[in-house]
Amino acid sequence: MCRKIRTFERLLYLTMEEKKLNFLEEIIERDLAEGKVDSVMTRFPPEPNGYLHLGHAKSICLNFGLAQKYGGKTNLRYDDTNPTKEDTEYVDSIKEDIRWLGFQWDKELYASDYFDQLYEWAEDLIKRGLAYVDDQTQEEIRLNRGTVDKPGTPSPWRDRTPEENLKLFREMKAGKYAEGEKVLRAKIDMAHPNMMFRDPLLYRIKFAHHHRTGDKWCIYPMYDYTHGQCDSIEHITHSICTLEFDVHRPLYDWFIQTLGIYPSHQYEFARLNLTYTLMSKRKLLELVQKGLVSGWDDPRMPTLCGVRRRGYTAQALRMFCDKIGVSKRDQLMDIQLLEWCVRQDLNERSNRYMVVQDPVKLTITNWPEGKVEWFDCPLNPAAPDGAKRSVPFTGDLLIDRADFMEDAPKKFFRLKPDGEVRLKYTYIVKCNEVIKDGNGEIVELKCTYDPSTHPVTGEWRSVKGTIHWVSASHAKELELRNYDRLFTLADMSQVPEDKDYKDFLNPESLVLGKGYAEPALLSDASGIAVQFERTGYYVADKDSTPDHPVFNKTTALKDSYKPE
Ligand code: ATP
Ligand code: MG
Repeated sequence: MCRKIRTFERLLYLTMEEKKLNFLEEIIERDLAEGKVDSVMTRFPPEPNGYLHLGHAKSICLNFGLAQKYGGKTNLRYDDTNPTKEDTEYVDSIKEDIRWLGFQWDKELYASDYFDQLYEWAEDLIKRGLAYVDDQTQEEIRLNRGTVDKPGTPSPWRDRTPEENLKLFREMKAGKYAEGEKVLRAKIDMAHPNMMFRDPLLYRIKFAHHHRTGDKWCIYPMYDYTHGQCDSIEHITHSICTLEFDVHRPLYDWFIQTLGIYPSHQYEFARLNLTYTLMSKRKLLELVQKGLVSGWDDPRMPTLCGVRRRGYTAQALRMFCDKIGVSKRDQLMDIQLLEWCVRQDLNERSNRYMVVQDPVKLTITNWPEGKVEWFDCPLNPAAPDGAKRSVPFTGDLLIDRADFMEDAPKKFFRLKPDGEVRLKYTYIVKCNEVIKDGNGEIVELKCTYDPSTHPVTGEWRSVKGTIHWVSASHAKELELRNYDRLFTLADMSQVPEDKDYKDFLNPESLVLGKGYAEPALLSDASGIAVQFERTGYYVADKDSTPDHPVFNKTTALKDSYKPE
């Protein structure tokens, strides 16, 4: 299936249109108006088998956002029915990520909190002749389910009496049978056009230690038998999940109706897919386990801890989720929109510093020997009268090599021989001499400054170019980790059959570099990414030490993306 890409331009256009209610808001407003529900109760139901990713952020923003909008509440409910893959490490990281996104749940709950209740309901179904213990193997069960065109074959154990089933089910619970020896199934209809109704599994045997219930249980309920009932127990009014669950909805309703419990309802929306990104926890886990990334929080990972370490902000993620809206059709979203949101937010809020990455010496020959002049520069140009940082100016500076050109074309407004440029926040300088080494490489630019062009006390004179710089003796060396997209394929669902998704890992997704920063950068206390002026947004990494600061590239200042 080839998905339609919602391009950046289209998405941006859509966000400028008047905001209409999305289909979930329409449903909620109708339910409230008709008195079907008095208040809105949603839940976010992660399985604690991995770290949350950007797709989960969409689900979180939706579930918490809808409840907030309509004065309701949201539970955090861990879907922990699969003990072999789950872990408290994941439970803790999920809470951290939700809080970071800016949401607070009402109750913290676990599907395993309801194991006793679910078990009781299973006995109830057995007694009513609506569930039976099946001795078929997993393979036999699969084969006997039939196909969409062919009805299934009833199990030879389907007509066991309720008494026998009850006895066997209790023995299953007591640990009498091995894994795979028996399962509990609902007795519905082996010829039902919806395959979900062909006697779905309710319980399987698993001798596994559970992160919460320990060794109390050796039978565990299946997703379909669990999710709706958990919703119902918590009086969830609108249970929102991704599209692939729409075929499960009739079964969700069947259990609730058959058990006669609170009528929660399920609604489906399209999951978030992003260009150049994979969001399957299984594959992300593989990348971590194989050491193809440095961990779940590698800044290239689409996990929330990864993008956080990359410098993406919670505000930007929420803005993104708001802009993409909700749809009922599978779509691939352009990652440029997310990057655009990150820039929007950081442009407004981030502090500015000058950092030179590929340095060349600039010497001011008429600067008094040893003199240091400190300039007070705004931390954010949006607030010129706001907080300032002090930047030292001396006669020995570093500028970026790319800001000088010997044989410059007409439109090159940065520094060139005999040309003038303003050194940002300070004076205008003129390049008088270019010094090269034996290989012809430029090693120094000898310039003079014009003292009458002091930005505050001097007279105003304009030049076409302004470049950033640092004082060589004051500069702080940085390790720069320049990150780019992790994959090279736009639609990662289109990996050809003879290839593996790992074949599309971008070999240039991490390029190490160095930076020379004005000293104030190292005492930045904003807690978010900063802007390296004229270059991009960078954020201090947790690997930093006072002697060895490390910065991760969050994103470039502008989009450099060129369509293939
Ligand atoms: P994965 O396939 O990545 O392992 P999952 O659906 O198994 O994801 P869960 O922990 O079960 O992960 O998901 C918790 C909630 O987040 C579910 O309601 C699920 O539908 C939703 N969700 C997961 N992935 C996405 C996505 N890409 N877009 C929107 N919602 C998502
Ligand atoms: Mg899941």
